[in-house]
Amino acid sequence: MIEVHDLHRHFGGFRAVDGASLQIRTGSITGLIGPNGAGKSTLFNVIAGVLPPTSGRVVMDGEDITGLPPHELFHKGLLRTFQMAHEFSSMSVRENLMMVPPGQSGESLWNTWFGRKRIANEERALRARADEVLDFLTISHVAEEKAGNLSGGQKKLLELGRCMMVEAKIVFLDEVGAGVNRTLLGTIADAIIRLNKERGYTFCVIEHDMDFIGKLCDPVIVMAEGKVLAEGPAAHIMENEAVIEAYLGR
Ligand code: ADP
Ligand code: MG
Repeated sequence: MIEVHDLHRHFGGFRAVDGASLQIRTGSITGLIGPNGAGKSTLFNVIAGVLPPTSGRVVMDGEDITGLPPHELFHKGLLRTFQMAHEFSSMSVRENLMMVPPGQSGESLWNTWFGRKRIANEERALRARADEVLDFLTISHVAEEKAGNLSGGQKKLLELGRCMMVEAKIVFLDEVGAGVNRTLLGTIADAIIRLNKERGYTFCVIEHDMDFIGKLCDPVIVMAEGKVLAEGPAAHIMENEAVIEAYLGR
């Protein structure tokens, strides 16, 4: 689904992404691991249109998507979540979900004058969808809660929930398990697996918890110093000399 060709992203003289090439197979849950500062988040940012690349290409389903802005990628079904959750903290959890789908009729003035009934119907449908998503993620009990009051793990689930409000093709998850307790991490893993199997979502997941990566991801891609160091099944990766060295630091 995604091909990254010789991608560079430099910050001044510093090469955060330094000629990375990789592929993400349609239907896979691909893991992306590597030591802190390896360039994983920067790579995600470039793929998702948050940062322009210094050079290189990103291709989605055969189409060059290099440098397209996030909203255009969103319409193509490419979504990303951030390492730090960014919910609308004073709105309820349900409202946070209902905000997501683009092109709601309520957005145009014309519709506020002439389409009241249609808007009401759409809102009902959105609300039903949001409640389905909350149910799927097993957090229905916090639907009315202000999103700012959620625990770190629940905020991560909400991020995942936002991806479920639209028809995504591929979702990039940046440290979805960071600071999340074991139980919630299991819930997140289940949700990812179900979205993958039942809805056909492809995932690319950055995560430090190797347990989580090992259970969820095939293949696993390892980055170090802005480059792809290794790729393969989790079990092989963890025995790879170069990978072990990169983690221990030379
Ligand atoms: P990872 O997600 O693998 O931990 P990052 O992609 O966040 O790594 O960062 C890779 C390197 O690029 C780090 O050394 C980081 O300090 C640097 N970096 C990231 N973003 C910027 C930026 N906006 N300006 C300057 N340096 C940056
Ligand atoms: Mg990062």
